[in-house]
Amino acid sequence: MVAVSKTQPPERLAALLAAGQRVFGENRVQEAFAHWRDGPPGLELRLIGPLQTNKARDACGFFAVIETLDRPKLAEAIAREGQRLGRAPRLYVEVNTGEEPQKAGVRPGEADAFIARCRGEFGLAVEGLMCIPPQGEPPGPHFALTAKIAARNGLAKLSMGMSADFETAIRFGATSVRVGTALFGERPAPG
Ligand SMILES: *Cc1c(COP(=O)(O)O)cnc(C)c1O
Repeated sequence: MVAVSKTQPPERLAALLAAGQRVFGENRVQEAFAHWRDGPPGLELRLIGPLQTNKARDACGFFAVIETLDRPKLAEAIAREGQRLGRAPRLYVEVNTGEEPQKAGVRPGEADAFIARCRGEFGLAVEGLMCIPPQGEPPGPHFALTAKIAARNGLAKLSMGMSADFETAIRFGATSVRVGTALFGERPAPG
């Protein structure tokens, strides 16, 4: 379980840490620094929000996992920073299963080619896929599609499911779920 700690105040983070949670998801690089720079050892921090190419260096140095790899320019930047640092974060390709124009992620029809390019051209070891189904649609078909793309590309990990639909996601093969409000309560407005 990835505890999604974006916009949560420190006392709520402390409560989850005290309960033994060590895997946390954040949407923004700067906020993740603020939350976790002085965190305890043994944390696994995951970037689950869109990553600008010019923040790839910071992200590669800080996160154990980047779940939002979705374009060649970003793959190139992550590969370059990985070389420089001598270590690369674990990577998930985000799939825009609903083909929503405002949402990040590769289109399902472009996923195979993109994964192949990440591996071949950029030498990146992609670990899994991530998806965020469209709001107001049954999520099952989106989870099924993501699982199918993962299977045919030899990817074992599936980051699928949030507070409202993690049980469905697990039925469709999620290996990690990203849960925010169901754990922490409603998020305060950002800023
Ligand atoms: C905020 C967020 C979540 C958590 O959402 P909840 O509904 O609060 O569980 C999960 N994944 C991503 C990508 C998010 O941005």
